[in-house]
Amino acid sequence: MQNRFSRVRSTYLPYGRQWIDEEDIAAVADVLHGDYLTTGPYISEFEQAVAQYVGAKYAVAFSNGTAALHGACFAAGIGEGDEVITTPMTFAASANCVLYQGGTPIFVDIDARTYNIDPEKIEGKITNKTKAIIPVDLTGQPAELDCISEIAKQYNLVVIEDAAHALGATYKGKKVGSISDMTMFSFHPVKHITSGEGGIITVNNEEYYEKLLQFRSHGITREQNKLKEYHGPWYYEMQFLGYNYRMTDIQAALGISQLKKIDKFIELRRKYAAMYNKAFQAMDGVIIPFQHEDGESSWHLYIIRLNLEKLTVSRREIFEVLQQQNIGVNVHYIPVYLQPYYQQLGYQKRICPKGEQLYEEMITLPLFPAMSEEDVNDVIKAVKRTIDYYKR
Ligand SMILES: *Cc1c(COP(=O)(O)O)cnc(C)c1O
Repeated sequence: MQNRFSRVRSTYLPYGRQWIDEEDIAAVADVLHGDYLTTGPYISEFEQAVAQYVGAKYAVAFSNGTAALHGACFAAGIGEGDEVITTPMTFAASANCVLYQGGTPIFVDIDARTYNIDPEKIEGKITNKTKAIIPVDLTGQPAELDCISEIAKQYNLVVIEDAAHALGATYKGKKVGSISDMTMFSFHPVKHITSGEGGIITVNNEEYYEKLLQFRSHGITREQNKLKEYHGPWYYEMQFLGYNYRMTDIQAALGISQLKKIDKFIELRRKYAAMYNKAFQAMDGVIIPFQHEDGESSWHLYIIRLNLEKLTVSRREIFEVLQQQNIGVNVHYIPVYLQPYYQQLGYQKRICPKGEQLYEEMITLPLFPAMSEEDVNDVIKAVKRTIDYYKR
């Protein structure tokens, strides 16, 4: 099989990467010349810019998206023995944040069309220990947020939306980030905008907002009206066990500069996704991503699903052959509960059969704004000739 497919291009095309321009570099250099490297004026400027962009009242920046999810679980009051419902088709962080708080993630299977959590299966998993739901907007397509928030209201649960993939997506005309109780975005370099590492929670509830701020910095406050004692002007209080999850001003300045380009970034992602859709929609052996009418995706990922009955090999061969051709394919994701750590905790295999089946059939194709139309066409060419070759 080694030399069956020549490379479609001379350089390796990754599945995602950042787009940094001279303005971004100047913004970061500016901070380095200034007084603050960590918490300074750019943090609140970035928070306000993100809050305004998504239409939320507040935003709290964190050192990364995972820390932000941890903060949200804390603010939601998740503790020892509490259960939190989430999807297996996500990055481990969406469930790990529950474990950090001593809670138990409960995995609910996906809707086989959208690959997002199936809202109809949520109620069956609610017990008197359930405290929250963490839906994930996989690939940038919003989960069924109305159904989820209705269930949450009925059972008094907090909704923490993992929108690491969905900055700029809309649901029923509203921007993701303004809908759930708390929404997390990540600024890892493969995501829509980057701050190097970075994450944020957008939130409308003031009580959550204040808890998030304090959690981000050791559980410490200096706010006069919150202090239990007062020893003098130096005085601060650590009132609960928080962490050092602060973002730096360096990161925030980069984030601010990147956010100015979000419309262009999303436009390009949508354009390239449309090119893939057009190229693959009539192809036997490949299923293009279904889009729910309630949402408009911001296209973090483009995932094709293989129709293995129409192919002579498994996903693994197709994947390897695409890599051979210099196409940086990936798989998002291995169902979280299949990870050895989760297996060791006692999670059974097969608890989410639709997620596991999807896992066997999915391949993520390169998609990022800094790629060119020529790059997109290289991917299309490689996928077409690979699928044609392995057609039954
Ligand atoms: C990227 C990502 C995270 C975590 O974000 P980090 O900033 O890398 O910590 C969480 N959930 C999902 C679905 C992600 O893709």
